[in-house]
Amino acid sequence: ATPYLLSVNNIEVIYNHVILVLKGVSLDVPEGQIVALLGANGAGKSTTLKAISSLLRSERGDITKGTIEYRGQRIDNGTPDQLVKQGVIQVMEGRHCFGHLTVEENLLTGAYTRAISRSEIKLALERIYHYFPRLKTRRQSQAGYTSGGEQQMVAIGRAMMADPKMILLDEPSMGLAPQIVEEIFEIVRELNQQENVSFLLAEQNTNVALRYAHYGYILENGRVVMDGSADELRSNEDVKEFYLGLG
Ligand code: ATP
Repeated sequence: ATPYLLSVNNIEVIYNHVILVLKGVSLDVPEGQIVALLGANGAGKSTTLKAISSLLRSERGDITKGTIEYRGQRIDNGTPDQLVKQGVIQVMEGRHCFGHLTVEENLLTGAYTRAISRSEIKLALERIYHYFPRLKTRRQSQAGYTSGGEQQMVAIGRAMMADPKMILLDEPSMGLAPQIVEEIFEIVRELNQQENVSFLLAEQNTNVALRYAHYGYILENGRVVMDGSADELRSNEDVKEFYLGLG
């Protein structure tokens, strides 16, 4: 058995049969950790997450080489639904709330794959509101009229309603003010520590991601060019110069 919850081994991804986007990406997520996938716009972060969650196919992308294992089992031929049942949930970039539903209705949609009773669903909701008190206040508001930060919280909260072991979180900081970004990362840390949810998060905001993650991988042009503990990466001169703007 592998010691890792998730292992991506040398995957190659091609869109539309011609566009080679991932050129042999490998990464591991140990159980209980937050792992950051870093790199500039277009480096291949979202594609890596979609390869793991099987959402690639709906975008005409194929894994043409390599393997992906979750708890030691191959998952590179599965469907998004199977993965959700196994506890791997992707939170897409751009949040994707159902704008016309209330905050609470959005959260409830996250539990659709679980065969649980009404009272268990109520408990699950209360657990989400414990981590996201703002959502409790806004529970009856139409999600489309809440702030960007609240919508990101709804998206993460909805993923939590599926009782995940692992969340693939795409660019949670996108378009949000620094203070709300901190608030969201604090909650991610709490979910990691208190609910034992592991995270693989794609971020262009290297500075924030490395303050909360245990480990990081830097992608450039479809390849991992560097990896290390968050502390190692934060003190690396190249990372400072090119990704932290401290050069
Ligand atoms: P971003 O922060 O913009 O999401 P990223 O690092 O997540 O950047 P990807 O979205 O994975 O990068 O994109 C990597 C490359 O793949 C880009 O050159 C992009 O144009 C290309 N690409 C992404 N999706 C598709 C698609 N459906 N069809 C063809 N090419 C795509």
